[in-house]
Amino acid sequence: MICQGQPRISFAHLPTPLEAAPRLSAALGIELLIKRDDLTGLCVGGNKARLLEFAIGSLRGQGVDTLIAHAAEQSNKLRDIAAAAARFGMKAILLVPGPPPAAGQTLQGNRLLFDLLGADVRVVPPNADRAEIMAAQQAVRDEVARAGGKAAILDRQLDYGIDATIAYVNAAEELCQQLAAASISPSAVFIACGAGMTAAGLALGLKHLGAPMRVHAVSIASRAADLGREIEGHAARAAQRLGIDTRLAAADLTLVDDHPDIAYGEVTPELVAVTRRFARLHGMVIDPIYNAKVALALVEQVETGRIAQGARVVFVNTGGAPAIYNEAAALSAPLIAPDARIS
Ligand SMILES: *Cc1c(COP(=O)(O)O)cnc(C)c1O
Repeated sequence: MICQGQPRISFAHLPTPLEAAPRLSAALGIELLIKRDDLTGLCVGGNKARLLEFAIGSLRGQGVDTLIAHAAEQSNKLRDIAAAAARFGMKAILLVPGPPPAAGQTLQGNRLLFDLLGADVRVVPPNADRAEIMAAQQAVRDEVARAGGKAAILDRQLDYGIDATIAYVNAAEELCQQLAAASISPSAVFIACGAGMTAAGLALGLKHLGAPMRVHAVSIASRAADLGREIEGHAARAAQRLGIDTRLAAADLTLVDDHPDIAYGEVTPELVAVTRRFARLHGMVIDPIYNAKVALALVEQVETGRIAQGARVVFVNTGGAPAIYNEAAALSAPLIAPDARIS
C-alpha cells in the first residue's frame, strides 16, 4: 500500500467497481472497461470522495471544525466538501463567484445540493484573481478564528492539491489489483483532467507500480500547454509526501486537447450525442462537463486509429452527475448527429 501511513478516514465506497461494457465495446471495436468512480458514495459519488478521505483524515487530527473552499457555482468539489462537513459534524463555508441567486430563483445541480447540505454559501466577485481568492479565503478563516473556531482552506495550492493527487495514487493501486485479479492488461486508461491532480496521481501510481498502460488525460478546460508542467508539479509534491522516488514527466502521459473550441462548461451537440450514446449502450449517464469530453476523446481516438481496434481500454468515470440536471436544457435538445438513434 503506497499510501499506507497517510492520515485518512474511510468512508468512500471502495474499491469502486471495474465493469465490462460489452455493448459499448462492440460498437467501438475495442474492449472497454469502466472504473466506476462515479459510485464512491458520500453524496452522489465522484472522485472528490477519495481525496476527502485523506483531507478530512488529517484535518480532524488537527482539530479543524470548519472547511473553507472557493470554486465555481456548480463545483463538484464544493458539493463534496459540504457533504463531508455534514457527515463529520463540521461547517462548510463555500465561496462562489457572484452574483448571488435572485430572490425566489430555483436552485439546481450542485448549487442546490450546497444548500440542502447546509453549507454557508458566500459570493466573491466573478472576476477575482488567484491572489484575491486566497485573500478572501484567509479573511473567512480569520473570521472563524475570532469566533473561537478552527478553519482549514481546501485549495489546490495547499495540502488539498496533494491529497487529491495521492488519492489517485491510491486509486491506481486499487485498479492494478483489480486488473491483476482478472488477469487483464489494458494498454490505455482515459480520465478527465481539470487542474490535473487526479490524472497526475493516477499516472504517478501506475508508473510507480510499473503498470504498462498509458494515461490519456483529457483536458476539460483546454489548457493542455500548461497542463503538462502542472501535472509534473502535482506528481512531484505527492511523491515527496509519500516518500517515493518515482518522478512523473509530462511525456509519461498523453494529454488530449482536441477541442480547444469547446469552453469549460459548454455543452455542445457532440457532447450531447456521446452522452446519449454511452447512456444507451451501457445504462450509465456520464456528466456533460467532464466525462462526456473523455468519452468524446475516446471515441475520436478509436475512430482515427490512435487507439487500435481490439485494444483494451479503461475509462475512469469521475462522477459529476448533478450537471446532468443543471444542463437539462442542453441535454434534451433534439439531436442533429446521425448516431442519435443508436439502439
Ligand atoms: C474535479 C473533477 C475532475 C478532475 O479533477 P482535477 O484533479 O482537477 O483534474 C474530474 N471529473 C470530475 C467529475 C470532477 O469533479
